[in-house]
Amino acid sequence: MKPGVYEIPLGTPMMDLLNKWCGGLRPGRKLKAIIPGGSSVPVMTPAEVEQANMDYESINKVAGSYLGSGGFIVMDDTTDMVDALTNLLRFYAHESCGQCTPCREGSAWMYNILCRLRDGLATEDDLVALRDLADNIHSRTICFFGASAAMPVQSFVTKFRDEFVARVESARAGLPAGLAVAK
Ligand code: SF4
Repeated sequence: MKPGVYEIPLGTPMMDLLNKWCGGLRPGRKLKAIIPGGSSVPVMTPAEVEQANMDYESINKVAGSYLGSGGFIVMDDTTDMVDALTNLLRFYAHESCGQCTPCREGSAWMYNILCRLRDGLATEDDLVALRDLADNIHSRTICFFGASAAMPVQSFVTKFRDEFVARVESARAGLPAGLAVAK
């Protein structure tokens, strides 16, 4: 890939941005996900990316996401989505200014739950609590930072649910963090 700053016409197919402008993925890699607007908007699956154009309406219609800042985060098939989301929430938990309770407490709770998931210590109840926290932070804060913390959680656990459930299953089976239960 060729990370950089690109000025492109609105409506450019998203796959063109990835392949023609940015040089495509590394050899042998598959696209796993793109976050199109900084880290603060819902993540997109490869199927959604293939259908979307680089404009506000298309991204929202196809993936329920937003162009936002236009800062793309591209993840290939080597990305662990639990680890990736944990890393994102570390930022939100740290940067919450603390003025309103849902964001101040909720972002820290979500980060703590994700750390337990990452470390192979979480239960199914934690997964339910994670989604519940995100739903209750969104639109209940003074500024948009709360929703910005909630939307990645809501979308990751919905669109890449298998990876989050696999972490719970491996924890229940007593496997070390990162090992999955054989199917
Ligand atoms: S939502 Fe905004 S105002 Fe409220 S705690 Fe978070 S950063 Fe502060």
